[in-house]
Amino acid sequence: MQKPNIYIFPQLVDNYGYLIKNPHAKEAAIVDPSDLEICERILDLNDCSLSHILLTHHHDDHIAAVEDLKKKYNSKVIGYDLDKQLPSLDIAMKDNGELSLYGNTYKIISTPGHTMQHICYYNIDFQMLFAGDTLFSLGCGRMFEGTPELFWESLTKIKKLPTETKIYCGHEYTLNNFKFALSIDSKNQELKKYGEWIVKQNIDLRPTMPCELSKELKINPFLRCDDSYFFELYQSEDPIEIFKKMRQAKDNF
Ligand SMILES: [Zn+2]
Repeated sequence: MQKPNIYIFPQLVDNYGYLIKNPHAKEAAIVDPSDLEICERILDLNDCSLSHILLTHHHDDHIAAVEDLKKKYNSKVIGYDLDKQLPSLDIAMKDNGELSLYGNTYKIISTPGHTMQHICYYNIDFQMLFAGDTLFSLGCGRMFEGTPELFWESLTKIKKLPTETKIYCGHEYTLNNFKFALSIDSKNQELKKYGEWIVKQNIDLRPTMPCELSKELKINPFLRCDDSYFFELYQSEDPIEIFKKMRQAKDNF
């Protein structure tokens, strides 16, 4: 079994697209394509056609290029069967279902919160998570449709993955997230050290993706709503209550 190469590319203002290359053929899959021209260019650069399109959720900045790409490459569109606002799907996935792609298996993890229907794709062979807008480095997605209960449950599913998991998030929000994280966790030395690296990546115009679950578990406040440090800060031992307050604080930051 071979590990696929993943190519990270910027789309629109601050979105990321991910190209998953088939190690055995001149074809690739793209996760959440929104910028047609850039998707075409990254496929050309890799001398690939587009066999599959993987969608995490229905927001326009994750699906805008689907119709045109499908028309051009005759790609199979894959998404969550319950997300009725997605473009029409060729393969509709169920929660906990498995997708076979280029010899690897991806588990479908339903993660409501940002939207009521949202899935992450977890490569169980090489521990890679395509997280869409559920989890960002040092942050999580805005809670547009879900509830704190649902969102925290979704984050808990991610927390339980192997700690070596590499996470490919839908946006480059890391520097802004760092500023918020530091404001509520100013003595976290590992967070400060990571902050120096983020600033350097930003100056060099380099992505902060993928991030590592082992690190996020120590410095992403939204994954630490069940940590005694935040129990004290938020005067509560209920992770859902803490998540709710933290999310509100971030929205107003
Ligand atoms: Zn979104």
